[in-house]
Amino acid sequence: MFKKFSIVLTALFCMAKVSNAQEPCITDQKYWESVKKYPQILEYERQFEEQMNAVYAHGIPGVGAKTTLSPFDTTIFDIPLVVHIVHDYGAEYLPDNDVFDAVKYWAQVYMAQNTDTSSVIDPFKKYVGNPRMRLHLATIDPNGNPTKGIVHDHSYLTTNADDQAKYSQWPQNKYINLWFINTFGAASTGAAAYAYYPSSASFMPYYDGVIGLYTYINYDKAIPHELGHVLNLQHVWGNTNAPDVACGDDQVWDTPPTKGHNPVGCSAAALYDVNCATGYTHTYTSISGLADSLVDFPDTTNAQNIMDYTYCQRMFTKGQCDRMRNALTAATAGRNNLITAANLVATGALAPTPDLPPVADFSIERATGTGIITDARTVFLTPASGGNFNFRNRSWNDTISGVNWTFSNGATTPTSTSTTTVLNRFTTTGWVTVTLAATSNAGTTTLVNDHAVYVADTTPVGGFGYYQGFHSAAEVSNWPAFNYFDNQYKWGFFTGASSDGDNTCMRYRSFDTTQKRIATPLGDHDDLFSPAFNLSGLSGNIYLNFKTAAASAPTSGITGPVGDSLEIDATTNGGMRWTKIVGYKRGTLVNNGTKSTEFVPGSSSTWTARGIAIPAAYLTPNTFFRFRYWPGNTGNNLYLDGLNISGFPADVEQIANSGNQLTIFPNPTNEGCKLVFKTGNESIVRTSIKDITGRIVYEANEAYAPNSTVQQTIGRDITPNAGIYFVSVVVDGAIFTQKLVVY
Ligand SMILES: [Zn+2]
Repeated sequence: MFKKFSIVLTALFCMAKVSNAQEPCITDQKYWESVKKYPQILEYERQFEEQMNAVYAHGIPGVGAKTTLSPFDTTIFDIPLVVHIVHDYGAEYLPDNDVFDAVKYWAQVYMAQNTDTSSVIDPFKKYVGNPRMRLHLATIDPNGNPTKGIVHDHSYLTTNADDQAKYSQWPQNKYINLWFINTFGAASTGAAAYAYYPSSASFMPYYDGVIGLYTYINYDKAIPHELGHVLNLQHVWGNTNAPDVACGDDQVWDTPPTKGHNPVGCSAAALYDVNCATGYTHTYTSISGLADSLVDFPDTTNAQNIMDYTYCQRMFTKGQCDRMRNALTAATAGRNNLITAANLVATGALAPTPDLPPVADFSIERATGTGIITDARTVFLTPASGGNFNFRNRSWNDTISGVNWTFSNGATTPTSTSTTTVLNRFTTTGWVTVTLAATSNAGTTTLVNDHAVYVADTTPVGGFGYYQGFHSAAEVSNWPAFNYFDNQYKWGFFTGASSDGDNTCMRYRSFDTTQKRIATPLGDHDDLFSPAFNLSGLSGNIYLNFKTAAASAPTSGITGPVGDSLEIDATTNGGMRWTKIVGYKRGTLVNNGTKSTEFVPGSSSTWTARGIAIPAAYLTPNTFFRFRYWPGNTGNNLYLDGLNISGFPADVEQIANSGNQLTIFPNPTNEGCKLVFKTGNESIVRTSIKDITGRIVYEANEAYAPNSTVQQTIGRDITPNAGIYFVSVVVDGAIFTQKLVVY
């Protein structure tokens, strides 16, 4: 048996990169999690293994065992792939060419054409297998449209990613899906990549495929390794998640038992590791059962195996190739559909990559200018802020020969042909329309975004005494809302609930109306911006008051962080710098418990009044507020209403204690109103109306019939300004107060 090695060989093999602390693959961890969830997977696997053993019990072609049945299949299989770039325009925004290069390399490995097989150590040279699989990026998408087999998914799920990032999966029995992301989340901490075996995928088809960090798309054999898992290969030490611990086996005869190796590169210790492998043989029984054949396998472990962790990976064994081919011809998880002639036609797998026009795209980057910019992307500035909006060309899907930008709103640079970034200021306030036309040899595609960024008006809409009841969509048109990821979780004007009786308010829709298990909003965030307020010259306690009503959704089946949160920030330099002034987490935000259906507030008791003392630094002539909502895994809707700026803290409800002694209608009102009250034993009733600052705007002492019901008309001229007023009647020496909302 082979027992010695040469120093020269060792030196040659030590050139492989050695990974950092990154765990190469957590397929086993994911496997055991899925088994815990679906114990039937184990039975599926057992049947799968039985079938495998029946097929390969009598030998492995080319290894020297008996093959008395019909010759082993030598067909070449073709497999369609789709690569998803899940991104938020960060470093993970891989260029198409990186994907093409990577797929080309994976395809070489799956035809055993990777040139580094020449450095496989002698004992394993005869075991180098050829999967005989051609990997192709699809050229037809699930809708029948031409594609290059690359998809860009703009999503917050690129960071803290997990299975949820696979939301855009193409049918997994037609394409092998591969996703590349920025970082893994808590459920996959430290992983470089992972995949699911066919038996797990059959229970969770919506998670089937490979997911990996973008930095590993073409790092050694990281992705060929994951595709091995997709095709039912285990790690060479078995499917524990603990390499380098105990001798294990992977159900494949010609990979000697091993403990496996953490990323060590081609170290001599790994290449000629005899632990577990010494004296390893296997006896094959002939098909008739009359004669045996003993194969004496190498006495060293196969550290160069693609299913080890060494990052010194060179080969699959012949037995592994047979196992993969078996998985590809079995119905489990629909793998056998991938290679059918009909599917190859449907996915265009065998057609050349089409020459398609580019997909025009741009991102909004961090503003430039003086002032501290804390957000990675700046979408809201005033003309006076001195900041430049920063637009970056992100067009893809072909080699771009040129772009044409057009900007509305009196842009300082109204047109540009920059293929990189354009800095721009705008003189006209409101939503900016950006048009980007991207051209390649195959044509031009134009993107028009009429809500790209928002230029905020510096003119204040009010200050002390301001009241916003969100009465109509038109009235809140200067409250721009951004839905950054263009999904169902977003701010919007809502009709159907209110805290002040007008049946309208603002809503953050956090409830998952799709009820899809993979529609988590965790990691998303969306903003609602206020108009400018003039708070200059104020002192003492000045409050930003509003009411919220919120619920949460059931937590069953949810792992990881669950909470929604609301953060309110303020800026005094036109959006160049936002500072958090208050944050509400789930515990304080949710005031209506858990609802399994979409929450809509009912009576006024479902609302909680909130008052924030505005820090003195924000009492300026141009203060804006930003309401940033972070939806969570168990979110339900949040409603916002009755926003005002006053010298009172929020809970003005508490001073309205009239019972049914005093009624005002209509309330809220945009005209006059009527007061209805009961008189007492005394005939004189004192009526007064104060505005939110406490100033008396109306006062009267009138005589009425004792113990009667009186109706009194209040003209709009008495309450000319929109806002909150407090109406009081004094009856028999007792004071009764009600809140009046005028809009
Ligand atoms: Zn693995």
